[in-house]
Amino acid sequence: MVIDEKLSILANSAKYDVSCSSSGSRAQRPGRLGAVSSGGICHSWSADGRCISLLKILQTNRCIYDCAYCVNRRSNDVPRALFTPEELAALTVRFYRRNYIEGLFLSSAVAVSPDYTMELIVRTLRLLRGTYRFGGYIHCKLIPGAAAGLIQEAGMLADRVSVNIELPTRKSLALLAPQKIPEAILTPMQRVSTAIAVARQERRSSRRAPLFAPGGQSTQLIIGATPESDAQILRLSNWLYSAMRLKRVYYSAYVPVNKQAGLPALNAPPLLREHRLYQADWLMRFYGFGADELFDAAHQNLETDIDPKVGWACRHPEYFPVEINTAEEAALLRVPGLGVRSVQKILQLRRVKRVQQEDLLKLRSVWKRAQYFITVNGKYYGRVPPAGAQALAALSPPPVRERTLFDPIGLPADEAGSVITGEL
Ligand code: SF4
Repeated sequence: MVIDEKLSILANSAKYDVSCSSSGSRAQRPGRLGAVSSGGICHSWSADGRCISLLKILQTNRCIYDCAYCVNRRSNDVPRALFTPEELAALTVRFYRRNYIEGLFLSSAVAVSPDYTMELIVRTLRLLRGTYRFGGYIHCKLIPGAAAGLIQEAGMLADRVSVNIELPTRKSLALLAPQKIPEAILTPMQRVSTAIAVARQERRSSRRAPLFAPGGQSTQLIIGATPESDAQILRLSNWLYSAMRLKRVYYSAYVPVNKQAGLPALNAPPLLREHRLYQADWLMRFYGFGADELFDAAHQNLETDIDPKVGWACRHPEYFPVEINTAEEAALLRVPGLGVRSVQKILQLRRVKRVQQEDLLKLRSVWKRAQYFITVNGKYYGRVPPAGAQALAALSPPPVRERTLFDPIGLPADEAGSVITGEL
């Protein structure tokens, strides 16, 4: 099989893995200028917010497992291919030299055994970092069940690593991916977490100490294939951030590619639910919310028509209104419409003067939402009482409108920006 065929098969097989932040490039326009995803090129975002292009590829899509939700599962009749480490390393370097890509996102199905597959991945990374002296970004998947030595070496060679959990509970794994053992997923995750902490500690003592996955580790959860609530999913994420010190948890809307008992009958992936989970995740990581705070006994799932911060605020009128000139940073961060950057600007302004309504009007997209939850110098400007059902009605999106470029999943126009900035 020629390299082009392998590239086509293995890039296509990799597109369901979103744990490189590339889910924004789902739109398929084959044959058109800029339609690079069929050639394995996706876009991701670096820690400093830059958009970078990656070769997103599987080492192989030959799999000994039969996960019900997966296009690459053993029982599916799909074209199969395997890149040798030599082929994949050479291809990556060719793409890099032509300026097509800035890095590699390397995942894999499980061919022969976890150790065999992990060995292929590690050999590819060794060739890239050693023989080719490749200094670009590498994100690689760790195969659950692989030997600790291989996991360790992958972490020394890659910038970021990830072990996919895929399904949020032991019960769901047993139902849809019975060959995957939760302990085989969590053990390497724990090892990586410890190795990252040790490497960072040693680096503080000596700049020559070797790096270990300096970009941290991440994981992916599939949303909607099994009946877990958003509360269950976010509690798991919260635990992963605190106990395993994960850098990111990625949520991937379940794409119905197989027909099998036990799988839900969906016509389309639940993209809006995926988006709400990302927003709630953002609230946990940057706004000081705990997973349990976003839910109560009657609400175990995030609302789809409003963002989770507005939902929380409207269920907690006792917190509002907040006085913009005196409130603590933590209280300001809970105001819908005030993002992390807006709060920093308000705090900076407060050092030199009292904040006025005009100052808030100058902060993009703050006022429209925030007016229902704040006072400015003791004055309340919202047209309805703070928080509660009326504020919710005032903030509810209009029923029908045109879709825009940044509105692929039917978001209200004033929310579209938060897909990119995460500001809520
Ligand atoms: S291990 Fe499961 S999810 Fe991964 S490629 Fe194989 S069948 Fe798919």
